[in-house]
Amino acid sequence: MMMAWRPSAPSRVSPGSSNRRIAGAVRVCLSILLTSVALGVPQETLVVRGGQRFDTTAGTFRSFGSIVVEGDRIVRVTEPGDTTPLPPGARELDARGRFVIPGLIDAHVHLVHILKSLQLTAEDVFPLFLRQGVTTLRDVGDERSEQKRVARFAEDHPTLAPRVVLGSPLIDGNPPYHPFVSVPLTQVEAVPAWVDAGVDDGVRTFKLYVGTTREIGQAVIAAAHRRGAWVTAHLAWSYRPLEAIEDGIDSLEHMGALFDFLLPPDAPRWPPPAERRGVPAEELAALQRRILEAKSRVDFSGEATTTLIEALVRRRVRVDPTLVVYRNWMLLRDQPEVLEHADLSSVPERLLEGWRRSARALPLDPTTVALRQREFLRLQELTALLHRSGVELLLGTDTPVQFCPPGLALHQEMELWVQAGIPPAAVLQAATRNNARSLGQADRLGGLEPGMTADLVVLEADPLLDIRAARRIAVVVRSGQVCTPASPEPGRQP
Ligand SMILES: [Zn+2]
Repeated sequence: MMMAWRPSAPSRVSPGSSNRRIAGAVRVCLSILLTSVALGVPQETLVVRGGQRFDTTAGTFRSFGSIVVEGDRIVRVTEPGDTTPLPPGARELDARGRFVIPGLIDAHVHLVHILKSLQLTAEDVFPLFLRQGVTTLRDVGDERSEQKRVARFAEDHPTLAPRVVLGSPLIDGNPPYHPFVSVPLTQVEAVPAWVDAGVDDGVRTFKLYVGTTREIGQAVIAAAHRRGAWVTAHLAWSYRPLEAIEDGIDSLEHMGALFDFLLPPDAPRWPPPAERRGVPAEELAALQRRILEAKSRVDFSGEATTTLIEALVRRRVRVDPTLVVYRNWMLLRDQPEVLEHADLSSVPERLLEGWRRSARALPLDPTTVALRQREFLRLQELTALLHRSGVELLLGTDTPVQFCPPGLALHQEMELWVQAGIPPAAVLQAATRNNARSLGQADRLGGLEPGMTADLVVLEADPLLDIRAARRIAVVVRSGQVCTPASPEPGRQP
C-alpha cells in the first residue's frame, strides 16, 4: 500500500544491538521434541514423524509416516505405519497428533524503507516472521542494495530470518508518489536495460506504482517476462486494471485499489496529488465522504465488476487483496479492534511508537466510521467473490505498514479471508502454493512433497477446522533447520 505512509522523523539509533539479538535468538532455538540429538554435531537428516500433512494441491490433510529431510530438502514422504528405523545421527521431530503445513509465505512486504525511517532494520523484525511460521517474504518495493544485504543475512542465518525474494523499487511516473523508494520511469527506451540490470541483481518481482503510464507498464511487462520475472502493480491514476490485464501483467495488489475502478463513471474519485494541492482540507474531507458513500452503493453484480473478474480469470492474473492493511491502517486505524489488538504486543516499541505517531499525524474523520466499516466489509465481500469466481488469490500483508505486525499480520489476513467466507483450505493454499507460484518457485516452495525445500510448520491443532489454529505453532523448520526464534528484545529502547 504505502500511499498513506509518511516517514516519521528519525529518532536515535541503537548501535551494536544486532549481535546481542542474534545471540539471544540462537539461545532459544528450541530442541524440544527432538531426540537423538548429538549436541554440537551438525545434523543433516531430520525425520518428522507423522502426523498429518497439508496437501496443497488437494487442500486437505493426509496422514503420513515420516517426512525425511536431508540438508535443506524433503527427500521422502512415507505412508502411515512406516517403521523404518531412524538413520544414524538423524534428528527426530515428533509430529504425531499434530498438523504439518508448508512454511507460510507473505506475498507483500517492505523490508527496507519503512523500517529505515524509524531507524530499524529487517534484522529487528525477521524473528517475528519466523516465530509465526512465515518462512519466505516477497518484497514488493524497496531500494535494492539494502534488500540484497538483508537477503544475504537471511540466507546466512536460516534459523533467525525467513528467506527474502527481492523486488524492484516502485516504478512510478515523475514526480514519483514516494520519492524515497521509487524510480521514475518515463522513457520507454530506457526500460529494457533497467529491467535487465534489476534481474541481474536478483530482482524477481517488478512493481508498477500509482503514476506509471500504460506505455511504461507494457515495456516493463515485456522486459521482465523475457527474463522470467514477475510483474505486479498498485494501480491508481494512469493505468487501468483492464489495460494491465490485457497487457499481460501477472498480479494486481490491494483490493481497495481494484475497488476504486469499479465505481460508476460519474462517481467522485480521489484525485492525484497534483490536483489536491491547495484544495482546502474540509473540501477533501467532504470528497472522501462522497467517495465512501459511492463505494457503499457499488453493485458487484454489475457490468464493471463482472468484466473485471472475467478478464482476471481469462488471463489468469492473480490478485493480492492485503485486507489487513485496509483494516489496520487505511480504514479503521482509529478503532479499538486495531489500536488494542493483542498482536501489537509482539511489535518492537520503536516500530509501534512510529505507527502511533503517524496515526496521530493523519487522523481519520470520526464522522465516517460507519462508512469506513462498510467499505471494509465490501472489500471482504469482493475478495470472497473473486475467490468464488475462480480468480487465483495471493496472500500478502503490506507489513510493516502501520499496525500490521510482522508475522502476525499474515495470520490476521488469513482470518479476515475466512471471515469473508473463503474456506480455510483455500486460504492456506494461497499462503503457500499460490504465493510460491508468484515467486516462480512452485517446484521448491509452498508444498511438502519430495524435492521441495524443507520449510514446514508443525501445528498443535487442525487449521481447517479453525484457521486460528495456524497460530498454535509447536515448531518451525526453515531450510531443514529447526528453530523457534525469539522476538527482538521486547520494548527495546535506544
Ligand atoms: Zn506495499
